[in-house]
Amino acid sequence: MAEERELCPRCASLQPMRVSETIREEGDESGAKKRFRVLSYHCAGCSVFVKSVESPMAPSDAG
Ligand SMILES: [Zn+2]
Repeated sequence: MAEERELCPRCASLQPMRVSETIREEGDESGAKKRFRVLSYHCAGCSVFVKSVESPMAPSDAG
């Protein structure tokens, strides 16, 4: 995986990020489930949370 660099608010400089991926499930009113892939970015130097990026997954990704 390519190294990601983001501005860390604690270090106040660009730092390499530690990226972890989780899957979030959410049901709408009709009961249909939507799945989101959530990437969480933490500073590799001080471990502070920097940002998270959510992207919807296609239903076919569910397996
Ligand atoms: Zn930092």
